[in-house]
Amino acid sequence: MEALLSAWFGQNGRDLPWRETTDPYAVLVSEVMAQQTRIDRVVPRWRRWLERWPTVEALAAAEPSEVIGAWQGLGYNRRALNLHRAARQVAEHGWPDDLTELPGVGRYTADAVACFAFGRDVLPEDVNVRRVQERTGARFTSAAAQALMDLGATVCLARIPRCEACPLAEACPSRGRRYAPQRRQGPFEGSFRQRRSVALRAALAGEQPCDAEAVAALARDGLVRVRDGLVSLPSTAP
Ligand code: SF4
Repeated sequence: MEALLSAWFGQNGRDLPWRETTDPYAVLVSEVMAQQTRIDRVVPRWRRWLERWPTVEALAAAEPSEVIGAWQGLGYNRRALNLHRAARQVAEHGWPDDLTELPGVGRYTADAVACFAFGRDVLPEDVNVRRVQERTGARFTSAAAQALMDLGATVCLARIPRCEACPLAEACPSRGRRYAPQRRQGPFEGSFRQRRSVALRAALAGEQPCDAEAVAALARDGLVRVRDGLVSLPSTAP
C-alpha cells in the first residue's frame, strides 16, 4: 500500500512551505499553528512569523506581548505563549531529546518535529493519519507521514471519503463506506472564547477590558497580568 500512496503523493501532495525545510524551529512553528487552525490560513501566517522571527533565538528574545500580538487571528492564544516559552527553553538549553519536555508540545507535535526536522523514524499520528490507518487496516512507516496526512486531509475525509479518487481503494476494506457526522465545536459567536478574545484584543490595544470573567481566565493562562486592578500584557520586565 505504501508504494501506491507514495506514487499518489508525488502527483497530489500539497505544496506546503514548511516541507521545504528541516529547521526544527520552523517545523515546530508550523505544527503549533496548524494544531487548531486551517492550513490555508496557516501558510501566510507562518511565512510572516518566520520573517519576523527567523530563528529560535530571535523568538526567544521577543517580548511575550509581541508574540501574543502577532498570534492574533490564529485563535487559542495559549499556543503563542507556549511556543514562546519553548523557544526560550531551546535557546537556553538546546533541543531536548524528548521533545514533549517543551511547553505545549504533546506526543503528536513532538513526533512531527522528530520526523520532519530530525529525520527520526517515528510516524506522527494526527487525526488524518489515524483515520487512514484505521480504515485501511494497514500500518505505514514514517516515510509515508506527509502522504498519509494529505490523503486524510483531501481524499479519505472524515464523513464522506472520496474513495473513487483514492490510490488505496482496491485494497481498502472500508471502501465506499459513509460515516456519521462528527460533533462540531460550538459557534465562536457568543461563546466564552469570543469574550476572551475581545478582552485580549482590548489589552493589546492598551485599553482596559471590562469583562472580569474573561480577564480572570486570560490571567490564569498567563496571557494578561492584573496588578492593582489594572490589566496589562505579560512582560519579561520585572
Ligand atoms: S478507499 Fe476510501 S475509506 Fe479507504 S482509504 Fe481510500 S478514501 Fe479512505
